[in-house]
Amino acid sequence: MSHHILIVAEHDGRTLNVATAKCVACATTIPDAHITVVVCAANAAAVAAQAAAVSGVHRVVTVEHPMHEHPLAAAIAPQIAALAGPYSHVLGPSSTFGKDLMPRIAALLDTVQVSDIMAVESATRFRRPVYAGNAIITVEVLGGAKVVATVRTASFQAAGTGAQAPIEAASPVAPPAHTRFVSVSAAHSDRPDLQTAGKVISGGRALGSAESFQMLYRLADKLRAAVGASRAAVDAGYAPNELQVGQTGKIIAPELYIAIGISGAIQHLTGIKDARTIVAINKDPEAPIFEVADIGLVGDLFEIVPQLEQLIG
Ligand SMILES: Cc1cc2nc3c(=O)[nH]c(=O)nc-3n(C[C@H](O)[C@H](O)[C@H](O)COP(=O)(O)OP(=O)(O)OC[C@H]3O[C@@H](n4cnc5c(N)ncnc54)[C@H](O)[C@@H]3O)c2cc1C
Repeated sequence: MSHHILIVAEHDGRTLNVATAKCVACATTIPDAHITVVVCAANAAAVAAQAAAVSGVHRVVTVEHPMHEHPLAAAIAPQIAALAGPYSHVLGPSSTFGKDLMPRIAALLDTVQVSDIMAVESATRFRRPVYAGNAIITVEVLGGAKVVATVRTASFQAAGTGAQAPIEAASPVAPPAHTRFVSVSAAHSDRPDLQTAGKVISGGRALGSAESFQMLYRLADKLRAAVGASRAAVDAGYAPNELQVGQTGKIIAPELYIAIGISGAIQHLTGIKDARTIVAINKDPEAPIFEVADIGLVGDLFEIVPQLEQLIG
């Protein structure tokens, strides 16, 4: 029996977010998966073409409406619920976008959501982290209910490209009367996106001030890296909220993660569990970060970081 899987595309109106290709990679591990990606957008053509090229995608459906100019979970959820009938699974990324959207879809479909799928055991059994990644739980969706789930994107390598899936248009349902877009206030940065960057440099409480954090931005720019922060650094106002890495921040899986003046609390480590290489700079040789670091530098960050910056040139 093939499983019909609907994946909600995350995008910015022009470019498909890599999180979608990671959801596709997850979906391909469901037995006999027939994968459809749905793109809700004001003008879906560019994003739909990118989705149609992702390996493993069988079909792309577009839902075009001016209300999708800005992604609003309250507006997208009814569109997906209206399309979901023939599908056994509805998946979205475990990103800010997906965490906002997928529970609404589950509620509209009168089912529960499976969160943070990190591995598929069968079409209805999934593994997910609990207790800040200290334990892995296996959950099963019973009674033939539709599976509505978020995918822990850090656990999957993005599916490649090469497919040529057909693209079809679906009619939008009436937009909700209760919610409309008013404005967005977001920090603009030319640096790589923290969630998808290949290299990330993060600073902790030890930086001591927002001014000292500038040192990390300079180093990051030389390495073309994104900047992250521990919660202690964010709470102290040294770095903005959206840079927080960890259990209550972003879960990331860069090729290179450099933790500077970060102790390595479990809530921070859960956000970098899937990083390929971890480098830690800390003046305390007993700091827990060294238990997970591939390369550790014991020393004062205020001496080491400027030296690194000079060496990189
Ligand atoms: C429910 C919950 C959720 C949480 N979620 C998150 C989360 O998402 N992300 C997160 O990060 N935390 C989270 N935390 C907080 C977490 O428990 C830690 O408090 C936090 O990660 C500590 O941040 P830190 O490592 O920057 O600071 P600290 O633990 O204070 O560590 C600072 C480190 O810097 C070192 N240091 C000091 N001076 C220097 C120097 N000059 N040179 C080099 N090293 C130096 C010290 O040796 C120390 O190891 C959460 C906590 C709770 C309870």
